[in-house]
Parts: sequence; C-alpha cells; structure tokens
Amino acid sequence: MVTLDELNLRMGSGVSFGILATMPKGSVVSVLSRASNGWYQVIYKSYTGWASGTYLKATTQTLPTQLYTQDELNLRTGSNATFPIVTEMPRGARVDVSARASSGWYKVTYRGRTGWASGSYLKKTPPSTSQGKGPNRGPRVVLTFDDCPRTLAALDSAIGYAASNDMGLVLAPTGDCLSSFRSRYGVDLAARARAKGQWVINHSVTHRDLTTLTCAGAERELLGTGVRTNWGRPPYGALDTAARCAYSSIGMKIWTWTVDTRDWQVQNKAIIISRASAARAGDTVLMHMQWQGFAPDSLRQIKSNLAARGLGVCRAYRGTNEIGAVVTTPRMLPDSLPC
Ligand SMILES: [Zn+2]
Repeated sequence: MVTLDELNLRMGSGVSFGILATMPKGSVVSVLSRASNGWYQVIYKSYTGWASGTYLKATTQTLPTQLYTQDELNLRTGSNATFPIVTEMPRGARVDVSARASSGWYKVTYRGRTGWASGSYLKKTPPSTSQGKGPNRGPRVVLTFDDCPRTLAALDSAIGYAASNDMGLVLAPTGDCLSSFRSRYGVDLAARARAKGQWVINHSVTHRDLTTLTCAGAERELLGTGVRTNWGRPPYGALDTAARCAYSSIGMKIWTWTVDTRDWQVQNKAIIISRASAARAGDTVLMHMQWQGFAPDSLRQIKSNLAARGLGVCRAYRGTNEIGAVVTTPRMLPDSLPC
C-alpha cells in the first residue's frame, strides 16, 4: 500500500501508541495484517508497526525500476520455471524491471535481453555476501593487498614469489600508486602484476572516503587514473548510497573483505601472518602492499599454515583451462574467479 499523506507508524493499532517513524507521503509499505479498527500492521523500511487505514491506499504500481540478482539466476521466456532459458544471469547482476506477474516473477531486461525471472532471487540491493567474497565463489582463500608497495623491488619479490608458487593474489592499488610507479620506475604496476598471473582491482584514485562525496564525485574518484576494471574495493570499506550509486553507474562491482588483518595497525609480521592464517574456506583476507604480509616469507607461511588446515589459496592464473604455465590475467575479472 502507499501512504496518501504524511503518516505516523505506531507501535500499536491506535493513536495512543508510540510513534516508531513518520512516513512521508507516497511511502510504499507492505501489509502484514489488518486490525478490526481499520489499522494495518505494515513494514516500512526496517520498521514493523501500525498505521491508520484512512491514509493508506492499495497500490497497483509499486514496481521497482531496478533489482539485483541475489544468486545466479535464469532469465526465461515466461513467468515460471517451465519456460526455456534465455540466459543465465550472474549473482549481483542489475536488471531493469518492466512488469510483475501474479506468480511473483518479474519481467526484466539484462544486458539487452528481456525475459522473466523469479522474484525470490531479486532484491532492491545487491547481495551482501558477494560484497565481502567478491568473485571468489569457491573454497580457496584469496589474499588481497591494497594501496601501494614501498618499492618496485618489494612489488617484484612478492608477485614473483606468488607466480612461482602458484598463488593468485589480488592487488588493489590506488591510481596515485600507479602514477607514482610510473614516474619513479617507468613501470605499469597493474600490467606487471597481471603478467605474473595476479589479479588487479580498483581502489580509487586518491583513497578518499567515498561517503564524503556525491555519486558523481565518487565516480570521478573511482575513474581517473584508477585501475580500469570491473571490481573495486572502496577505501576503508566505506559505503553509502552515493558510493554505491557511483559503483553501479560505472558498472563496477564492490569487493570488500571477510577477514581484516589490521596489518597497518599492528605492523607486526607474526601477528599479520597468524591473522591471515586463521581464514576459513572462501574468505577474502585484507592486507596492504606496504606492510609485512606482502613479502615472500609471509606468503609462504600463510600458504603453509592454511594448507595445514586443509585450505588452499587462490592459484596463479593459467588461463581458462587452468592448466599449463602462468599467463597474463585479464583486466576484467570473470564473475567467478578461477582460483
Ligand atoms: Zn586502502
């Protein structure tokens, strides 16, 4: 239903109950039940409460304009699972909505193809777990390193060790870092890491907190000299509506982390190694290229500690068939990393 005027959401079905929230005119609520006095129990945003039926009207048009797939989802030619599949949409895909069937299926357009998809797997926000685990869909642990290595030698020893020991690290350098490596060493850091079978994602240009910017401002901060790719890690993991707006409008997916070593805080090799080694299957571990985790000996110990617990780390890229010598990783990451 939709509110016809500004309307209070209350704790019970009458004006004597306390106010939980004031809903602006035109707010859409979903109805849970109706009291005999004509009040409705409704859900509004994160609140569940009661509102007077006098100011509520049934909605025929509450269709969202865009939804996100919460898992891999089939786009079909009709509004139930018996219809043929048009294409498979990845988890976290944004679709444009044009209709809703009584079955709860939505008519949507994904990358220029229109069809029907089950409403059970579509929500207004991208799936949250994909944010922490990114495109790593398997049980291997992904070690990720943000910001900037101290020197070219530090970069080369870490990525060289990773490549020759079958480790596929994820590096998230800032645009400023790329510029600095270019001017100090005449080197394209991203290309150098990719040539060693490592993955490189975006980490903004200047490492500003995106939540302090508008959508357009955050877009500029992500583009510019930043890594051009389809996955990005927001500085500090800071996100709000404007930041999400920037990511989605430039077609970049958000990859945060599931284990934070806080390496910048402890600055202690043994502690960093032990925190990274505590990862569980499928985890994304956050470290930084300027701290002690980004070094051959640390990588060796983390890999060996995880192996002792039956866990593998993401492997260096060997192409889509995953065999043979290490090859250059693509700039755009696949929806599911071949770890
Ligand atoms: Zn950072």
